[in-house]
Amino acid sequence: MKNYFMIIDGKPVFADSTFPVINPATGEAFAQAAAGNISHVDDAVVAARAAFPAWSSTPDAERQRLIHAIGAALEANMPELMELVTKENGKPLNGLNGVGSGMEVGGAIAWTHVTADLQLPVEVIQDNDEARIEVHRKPLGVVGSITPWNWPLMIAIWHVIPALRAGNTVVLKPSELTPVATLRFVELANAILPPGVLNIVTGRSGSGIGAAIAKHPGIDKIVFTGSTPTGKQIMQNAAGNLKRMTLELGGNDAGIVLSDVDPKAIASKLFGVAFNNNGQTCACLKRLYVHESIYEELCAELASIARKTIVGNGMSPETQLGPVQNQAQLSFVQELAEDARSHGARFLCGGRVMDGVGYFYEPTVVADVTDGIRLVDEEPFGPILPVIKYSDIDDVIRRANNSPNGLGGSIWSNDRAKAAELALRLECGTAWVNEHGAIQPDAPFGGVKQSGIGVEFGRYGLEEYTSIQTLKIMK
Ligand code: NAD
Repeated sequence: MKNYFMIIDGKPVFADSTFPVINPATGEAFAQAAAGNISHVDDAVVAARAAFPAWSSTPDAERQRLIHAIGAALEANMPELMELVTKENGKPLNGLNGVGSGMEVGGAIAWTHVTADLQLPVEVIQDNDEARIEVHRKPLGVVGSITPWNWPLMIAIWHVIPALRAGNTVVLKPSELTPVATLRFVELANAILPPGVLNIVTGRSGSGIGAAIAKHPGIDKIVFTGSTPTGKQIMQNAAGNLKRMTLELGGNDAGIVLSDVDPKAIASKLFGVAFNNNGQTCACLKRLYVHESIYEELCAELASIARKTIVGNGMSPETQLGPVQNQAQLSFVQELAEDARSHGARFLCGGRVMDGVGYFYEPTVVADVTDGIRLVDEEPFGPILPVIKYSDIDDVIRRANNSPNGLGGSIWSNDRAKAAELALRLECGTAWVNEHGAIQPDAPFGGVKQSGIGVEFGRYGLEEYTSIQTLKIMK
């Protein structure tokens, strides 16, 4: 079984012990990762601080060249990275509608190159006889990145690459459930970057590494993707030195289907945006509100697609959905399903843990549920979709917005102008019309309310890794 090491100051670091990385399709360990501790965080911060002066003053074009080289290294190692992502996370190599580890690694490569090409030009806001005023963007220093298990490699790239592009150095901590693809990425990147620019520390659950990063006085910014409760703890811990923060937190996205659509025409797309990666994507559609006139027909279509979906080990090329990533998440999905059952929900398909090894749950479509039960009010983060009937559009917009979360939302209709108007009434960071969860490296993405602070991607995302310096030159 392969042993994955941390990298601090450009050097491999094996801790005193290792911890197992479980393949959720089998329930068995397939790799070991270094069980680091808080002293490794201190070492990584020292290395990142030492590397910052040279990296931040490296000419822009050189930083861009090195980041493109990282993109090329990811591409050259794509099959290996895909296998690691599938084994540690469970998502299939190909997956439902092409959402699998191929997309994850392909996305990581694309985001790396697009971000390498972004620019933060000096803005001149006044240049007259009195004075010239310029606005400069400067790197912050050391960025602490903390990532979740659902898109482990892609999210690490989303954090690390813009941080580096803007001239910061990084201390990265992946989820203890999915550290290996990220460890391999950092190893590849360290063959390209100067030592100390990108460091990675891994540890067991309960190691306190995440909290140590959040608290560390030598770290200037935290970028965190994960659950809302953890985001709140990080914010508290980060107050000591007023760290800058980007928090991408949980979502419980609503999709609203108007009466003018043909259920047969949109069912497959709706199913895809709700169930891709087994519903374990922050911006999956998680509450589906359907007009009463097409409710039964759309429910039946969704259930029929769910029954035909191929669930299994993601290493098989034909698998569409893999396992739930971990036992705790599987138990949580079961808990929400049982709670819905006890409230009279109608299970149109699924609703059971699958027999055999691994953490598999049947793709599940649940009708006759409404706001106020846990399956609708909480983010299930699993392969289960509540479908909720509505009759009045103003009422359903109110219900969609009646959530502490505000990541994404969508309107589905043949009347695009009307749908766009309604979409703008949704309280969320991204609103889609006839789409859900679709993101791209040049458009900002982030949550409002308790789904997060700040945005990622494109110029807006890159700016979050900088502070503004205003320069006034009197004439
Ligand atoms: P999580 O919050 O349990 O863990 C995320 C990371 O935080 C892990 O690396 C974990 O070790 C670390 N961590 C745990 N406690 C910490 C602490 N006290 N201080 C610092 N770090 C700590 O989240 P998860 O279960 O891995 O991920 C699932 C959640 O992430 C879902 O709620 C999902 O919606 C959200 N998510 C959001 C986005 C987005 O862009 N908004 C994207 C993906 C996932």
